[in-house]
Amino acid sequence: MEKLLYTGKAKQMWSTDNPQILRVVYLNQATALNGKKKDKIEGKAVLNNAISTLIFQYLNQVGIPTHYLEQISPTEELVKKVEIIPLEMVTRNIAAGHFASRYGVKEGRSFDQPVEEMYYKSDKLDDPFMNASQAKALGLVTQEELDVMWNLSRQVNFILKRLFAQAKLTLVDFKLEFGRLADGQIVLADEFSPDNCRLWDMETANHMDKDVYRRDLGDLVSVYQEVYRRLQTVLEK
Ligand code: C5P
Repeated sequence: MEKLLYTGKAKQMWSTDNPQILRVVYLNQATALNGKKKDKIEGKAVLNNAISTLIFQYLNQVGIPTHYLEQISPTEELVKKVEIIPLEMVTRNIAAGHFASRYGVKEGRSFDQPVEEMYYKSDKLDDPFMNASQAKALGLVTQEELDVMWNLSRQVNFILKRLFAQAKLTLVDFKLEFGRLADGQIVLADEFSPDNCRLWDMETANHMDKDVYRRDLGDLVSVYQEVYRRLQTVLEK
């Protein structure tokens, strides 16, 4: 019997007959401000799944270890079961969002070296900022695991900056989550979609990500559709 294991803000996780495999169901839901703003958005689940599938398949192909196995319906995928490490690993190429507001700089300022930040994944605590020594003190990760996670984050940044550039999109920043397989190997988990990254159109500088929803800038679904269309064109070549 399949069991519902967890309902998140935009996805559900279900068990399957295979104890090593979980089924992810994407939901037509958008949230912002840590769930304080919440809306049902028809068509969003299919697009998040479609975009994340393209990205994870590409990352698997180029050798990044991920939890992704296969898409099984427009709104569902199968993934390897992992123990999620409760850290949100944020990489920023350009100042935006909370970096801009927290440090009083204008959005759009590029960094010579990507900025790397960690947050403790806890809705109850509002995802507080966390440094490496704090994460280790709480027993969330080892230094070796952190090294692997940041190394993979840097590779993902390198690979996806180039992929999105081909789609005429600037990868401004993104958040990754990692998990441990049964044997302890660290793999990329969660999803990669415009829900957890910022993408700016290279020609118009328009926001092509969840900021459209966070800031009420227009129709989220048509923006995600355009991101999907561009990625598909680039990956078909
Ligand atoms: O809000 P902030 O500027 O810190 O976000 C940085 C990046 O991390 C953005 O791409 C945002 O979408 C992503 N993020 C996320 N989930 C969070 C916090 C940030 O996907 N809980």
